[in-house]
Amino acid sequence: MFNALLVEKDEDGKTSAAVTQINDSDLPAGDVTVAVEYSTVNYKDGLCIGPGGGLVRNYPHVPGIDFAGTVEASDDERYKPGDKVVLTGWRVGEAHWGGYAQKARVKADWLVPLPSGLDTRQAMAVGTAGFTAMLAVMALEDHGIKDGPVLVTGAAGGVGSVATAILGNLGHKVAAVTGRPETADYLTGLGATQIVAREELNETTKRPLEAETWGGCVDAVGGEMLARLLGQMTYGASVSAVGLAGGAGLPATVIPFLLRGVNLLGIDSVMQPYDNRLRAWERIAKDLPMDKLDAMVQPAVLSDLPQLGRDILKGQVKGRVVVDVN
Ligand code: NDP
Repeated sequence: MFNALLVEKDEDGKTSAAVTQINDSDLPAGDVTVAVEYSTVNYKDGLCIGPGGGLVRNYPHVPGIDFAGTVEASDDERYKPGDKVVLTGWRVGEAHWGGYAQKARVKADWLVPLPSGLDTRQAMAVGTAGFTAMLAVMALEDHGIKDGPVLVTGAAGGVGSVATAILGNLGHKVAAVTGRPETADYLTGLGATQIVAREELNETTKRPLEAETWGGCVDAVGGEMLARLLGQMTYGASVSAVGLAGGAGLPATVIPFLLRGVNLLGIDSVMQPYDNRLRAWERIAKDLPMDKLDAMVQPAVLSDLPQLGRDILKGQVKGRVVVDVN
């Protein structure tokens, strides 16, 4: 028997999550069984611990969209017992049982070997949010980061914190947008050179173009903020669209694309091809300073997850939560 955070749904459709003992035979089919060491809390986890957000197919369900641990058993020649592995994406923790348990059984195709230079705890301090932040920075680099500070929205959240630390470490000026002024010292410590109040950007304007200000952007917020900042990008600059913490709508005009050659780059971490996953993890090990990563981490255990799930949906989690499932 081992511990898992199990989410159940009652006859009225109401979900409840609690730490429960399950056993090996409860685990779904898969080629690799992993003794999970650490998982994390991402925005999607908040949905899957709580109301589901249309992501969870069947109940009872074990959430946890990412995990790191040690292979316990494997029917796939790429992995053998004792190997350290990381999983993000592939709808694990949503359509499939995830990392909020002491064991997980998954497809070998979904795993990557633990990147050298990181331990399992650090890999989950990065987690899906940090991995996605790296993909977003790589996309900006591939399209050219222009003059002017790089804007990071939702900066005190998971994606934003890691993006701020990576961009700062790469020598870019980083303008961190936050709705929590009390996080200013934290963000400056990560590498932000400028703090922008959320209110400055979350109102729509009738002007499709404003002063050319930002040389690139990692956007975790979407909605009206994304629409507004498109008109503030410098000529030819790019925006990596990562998240929808502020809304899924995009009340924008095409003028910034047509008159300033602005690029809007979609970032998906879930179905990302294997080779690019390896590239992103290698870059994380090289370009994310581990002392900055440590400064983002808040430790947690399985029984903390119901509350943390509610907190992240309200935008109240700072940086990254690392869940020690043991
Ligand atoms: P967090 O909750 O940790 O961070 C989101 C941040 O956005 C908050 O901390 C807050 O930052 C800001 N924010 C929250 N609500 C609002 C609002 N109404 N208006 C403006 N800003 C707001 O979540 P994550 O960092 O884990 O994820 C961020 C987003 O990225 C989510 O939408 C998530 O679904 C998405 N995502 C997408 C992935 C992909 O593959 N494309 C992968 C991972 C995440 P502050 O307090 O500093 O203002």
